[in-house]
Amino acid sequence: MQYAEVAVSVPVRLNQTFHYRVPEALKGELKVFSRVEVPFSGRTVQGFVIGFSQPPDLQKIKDIKRVIEKEPFLNEDLYVTARWMVRRYLCSLGDVLQCMAGSPVGSTRSSQEKGLAVVENHLDLTGLVRAPKQKLALEVALASPGLRKTELAEKAGVSLSVINTLLAKGLLKEVDAGSGTENYPSLEELPTLTAEQRLAVSKLQQALREAKPSAWLLHGVTGSGKTEVYLRAIEETLKMNRQAIVLVPEISLTPQMVERFRARFGSRVALLHSALSQGERYAEKARIQSGQATVVLGARSAIFAPVPNLGLIIIDEEHEHSYKQEENPKYHAREVALQRAAQSKSVVILGSATPAIESYCRARPGGPYQLITLTSRVDQRELPKVHIVDLRKELAAGNTSIFSSALQAALARRLANHEKSILFLNRRGLATVVVCRQCGQVMKCPRCEISLTLHSDGWLKCHYCGYGARAPGVCPHCAGKTIRSFGVGTQRVEEEMKKLFPGCRVLRMDADTTTRKGSHQKLLDEFMHGEAQVLIGTQMIAKGLDIPQVTLVGVISADITLHMPDFRAAERTFQLLTQVAGRAGRGEKTGEVIIQTYDPGHFSIITAQRHDYLGFYHKEMAVRRALQYPPFSHLIRILFTGLNEGDVISAAQWWQERLYSAREELVDQSMEILGPAPAGIPRIKDRYRWQLILKGFVSREVRKVAAAVLEQAGTRFKQVSVSIDVDPMSL
Ligand code: ADP
Ligand code: ZN
Repeated sequence: MQYAEVAVSVPVRLNQTFHYRVPEALKGELKVFSRVEVPFSGRTVQGFVIGFSQPPDLQKIKDIKRVIEKEPFLNEDLYVTARWMVRRYLCSLGDVLQCMAGSPVGSTRSSQEKGLAVVENHLDLTGLVRAPKQKLALEVALASPGLRKTELAEKAGVSLSVINTLLAKGLLKEVDAGSGTENYPSLEELPTLTAEQRLAVSKLQQALREAKPSAWLLHGVTGSGKTEVYLRAIEETLKMNRQAIVLVPEISLTPQMVERFRARFGSRVALLHSALSQGERYAEKARIQSGQATVVLGARSAIFAPVPNLGLIIIDEEHEHSYKQEENPKYHAREVALQRAAQSKSVVILGSATPAIESYCRARPGGPYQLITLTSRVDQRELPKVHIVDLRKELAAGNTSIFSSALQAALARRLANHEKSILFLNRRGLATVVVCRQCGQVMKCPRCEISLTLHSDGWLKCHYCGYGARAPGVCPHCAGKTIRSFGVGTQRVEEEMKKLFPGCRVLRMDADTTTRKGSHQKLLDEFMHGEAQVLIGTQMIAKGLDIPQVTLVGVISADITLHMPDFRAAERTFQLLTQVAGRAGRGEKTGEVIIQTYDPGHFSIITAQRHDYLGFYHKEMAVRRALQYPPFSHLIRILFTGLNEGDVISAAQWWQERLYSAREELVDQSMEILGPAPAGIPRIKDRYRWQLILKGFVSREVRKVAAAVLEQAGTRFKQVSVSIDVDPMSL
């Protein structure tokens, strides 16, 4: 009789696995890592075989029901990472393996479909001028060889029949992906590196040749040529017959990046992103696993790409919050990257114009990262001029519009000169904070320095420590009476824009207007090539967008991010403002940026105005040190949610007591246990949310305490779900 040890994808104790009997019919169908269906407390759940061994107890043993996938995209290397993630993020092994392997696929048909390339003697496309669609498809096939039929059709914006015609005519042919028949740009065609780039590349090449794990922070302003450095490092990696994984925050937002990678590495590039169908994803992963595709470009989960011989991991815009997964397992791709690199002796490059505070701190002398700085833009173009508008003065002068007079004047100039503008509105804070419009002060917790959130009962509460106070009628700082919660939507901005400038053409980009697949890119294309003069949008527009005609960027209110009830609010503000400012003046004319705020003296706004990362870093570090926030401490958030608030609170109190005892037993007393307090958003979809926060100096110790209580809790709470977030991005 054969027995398999299975990690199931249900909430269980961290390293708990279960034994099942392998029925006769499934013998030979199962391997280590096979994805199976098994009975589990009256239900059928998925799990992964992690080995074959004798069960400790033969009494209640059940049969494996069926094999879903004999060989998912997992390997020994990923399994070691998975075990590490269980300890690091206090999540179950089953959940981690599920996340790594992705969803199973029924059909593998598309993996056999071959890529297409232009037949060499038809490279001269001029003969086809009378069939513009065919010509277009050929041009695209020439620029990006190795695309499959549907990909090529979609990319060229033509129907499948156009591609079929070209195949029938013999102008296109099928090629084996990665067969090496295509031409890559020879070295002479590559741009000559600037002195700074050359130095960066040589350091990285050296590190790659040493084949030891190392991590590099590449800090360079937008346009300083970071991507070119990535491309050279990848070249070196491929030369050594190793593979590279490149993470970008959201691949659908970065078509220009994909383009550059395809142009350099052709069909050796595999793309992994959420818009792929299951079949397409499977096909890409098969190319990666077999070693056909050697450069993996994708969003967060591409960090689990099943590459056979990893040599390099690049994380572009490493400060982006999207690298942290909000569901279980709540991992951060940067931390997983460092772990995979340590295991596979790979090099990690973290690139950003505004590195995360934690990252820059690790790149200080003596830290675990090495720092490379690119100080100037490749084309020597100047960074845009940034103006700060004090909204308190606007109010005093009687202007109650969302647009300050300076912004109105700047917009009018652009409209008259037929130049384009972007109006940026940060995503509306999810929590409601209270601000005095006269002095700009926001109501904060006296203990945590975190914005207090307004609850429906008229109380202001701190969702870190639970402090509460009645919302004041007048401002406690200036006695002003215009004290209120705020937040305007993109629609409001659009309406007001049209009122101020009747007849002006406006496009709006936000969650409402970009729900359909591809609509994001369509809107951008329309703005780039169409008549519209103004684009209004949320942070979606802040990323990677490169529109030369834009000469003005207006930030409607810097305060929304600045007053988020979160210890990273200042950092987020600096990053967003810097990024948004980078959108102005990418063409011939120098750009202008106008930032509107009630808090013009705040260091995150002033340093963003001066493009001064280091200035920001040092000020922010001083604040973090004074209040013992990361990187000076490590946090764990334990979130309790349920339909009955009483149940939720008592679960949180049960945990609180156990945490106190565990701290007493396991660590020294300097670890703080904050709360229980209502979460920043106290109720979502009828579920009440309360939280506890652990704060300590040693990550391992904080995790040890949480893990101990998790173990005691087991499946104790039926009506309340408990979710643990190690190193949360926002609280
Ligand atoms: P970043 O990633 O730092 O924003 P990029 O690598 O995208 O910068 O470079 C910005 C622009 O400069 C791109 O259009 C790129 O093709 C070009 N570029 C990069 N390096 C060089 C170089 N050494 N010489 C000429 N152009 C370059
Ligand atoms: Zn507090």
